[in-house]
Amino acid sequence: MALKVAVVGAGPSGFYTAINLLRDVEGCRVDIIEALPTPYGLIRAGVAPDHQSTKLVSRLFARAAQDPNVGYYGNVNLGGDVSLDELRSLYDAVVLATGAPLDRPSGIPGSDAAGVYGSAAFVGWYNGHPNHCDLNPDLNTSAVVIIGNGNVAIDVARVLVKTPAEMAAGDLTADAAAAIHGAPLQDVYLIGRRGPEEAKFTNKELSEMGDLSDCVPVVDPAQIATEAVGAMTDHERLLRNKNLATLRDFAARPPREAPKRVHFLFYAKPVEILTDGRVQGVRLERTRVEDGNAVGTGEMFEIPCGVVVPAIGYRMPPLADVPVDEAKGVVASRDGRVGNGLYAVGWAKRGPTGVIGTNKGDGETVAQQILEDIRESGRPGGTGLERLLAERKVHWVSFADWQRIEAAEEAAAPPGSPRRKLTGVSDMMAIVDNADAESR
Ligand code: NAP
Repeated sequence: MALKVAVVGAGPSGFYTAINLLRDVEGCRVDIIEALPTPYGLIRAGVAPDHQSTKLVSRLFARAAQDPNVGYYGNVNLGGDVSLDELRSLYDAVVLATGAPLDRPSGIPGSDAAGVYGSAAFVGWYNGHPNHCDLNPDLNTSAVVIIGNGNVAIDVARVLVKTPAEMAAGDLTADAAAAIHGAPLQDVYLIGRRGPEEAKFTNKELSEMGDLSDCVPVVDPAQIATEAVGAMTDHERLLRNKNLATLRDFAARPPREAPKRVHFLFYAKPVEILTDGRVQGVRLERTRVEDGNAVGTGEMFEIPCGVVVPAIGYRMPPLADVPVDEAKGVVASRDGRVGNGLYAVGWAKRGPTGVIGTNKGDGETVAQQILEDIRESGRPGGTGLERLLAERKVHWVSFADWQRIEAAEEAAAPPGSPRRKLTGVSDMMAIVDNADAESR
């Protein structure tokens, strides 16, 4: 009898799991269960709104979702509408592809002040994630400090300083566009506690900061080494040297007057967020890097600002009946095997690292693990799930329902933009309900 697998989470790791199961496990039936009505996880709500080409992978995922052996159950909450134990009894295997949607706590004193917005919430807000669309950040400030030197930090900086024209071909939400483009922002500080060699920006994202129409990059040439030193792979050396070359190029450019500046500040560890209830600035300690670690020098300085965005990584939320590796903020597993018939993939398994394509490997691995581990099949799968959801009056969203939401977003798109995102679940469900009423 065909194997029935539930994949919880409709982001990249969930879809690559489904794709690999369909390819590698003959006759496998995959049901994707997603908390939001909308699929695609970080493709929709994490990838920056001006990086539309990165979002095109959703076409591959849409094709997978329409495979006759795939079911999509949106607007269904694990732990609320259905428990993990229930899913495990309904399916031969359950794969957790639930990601790492929470900000890692920074532990910096003052982090709870008004005006501090973790990158999970801030990125979710400008991308229209229903859980964050009401964040309403107060951007009435000339200076923003972003803590971290990863691609999320650089995404946030770029979205804050690009002009409306530069964002027009993207899908920044209307509320976020009004708040960001109406704000008196002039200076954005990107803070690295280590040096430019250790920065985790990819070069494409870093280089883009030199091509903005209203904003210039500001780099202290004294902080940029001529080439990466120390033990590392050739590939790593190549990547680090590319970033150093880009930063040296930024530092060597003739000064250009521009309304906005992004300051790259390295060797600076935030020690306190200065606040009088609201953020007033950040106190930092200068560092040097020893054996790869940032070591404080005791020398302090301050940057006045009205907003701080820590972009220092993510962790998973607590999930009932799921063991957690607290130190890493991931599901505790042996290479993704969590327990009998239970698996984890993507950021839930590995933590928040890698790019979208990294999830392909997770999908391949879990498909092989399921092939090796599961000897018996015959559980009810989707028919059992639908019975349970009907009993509980859970209004689940099919993939065809999502396509109606998508069509409404596309129809409402401003000129040049792919869509005007709906941000509230009730607005999305109203479209599904209307379509249901019309078809009756
Ligand atoms: P990340 O790449 O791990 O960067 C986190 C940054 O935060 C690092 O610079 C880290 O510094 C710093 N940090 C951590 N704890 C800190 C602390 N207590 N104080 C000061 N700094 C601290 O994570 P991310 O930027 O959240 O990105 C997550 C993943 O998504 C990455 O794999 C990223 O490449 C990917 N992503 C890709 C794209 C893209 O391809 N365009 C866009 C967005 C995200 P240390 O290095 O010193 O720890």
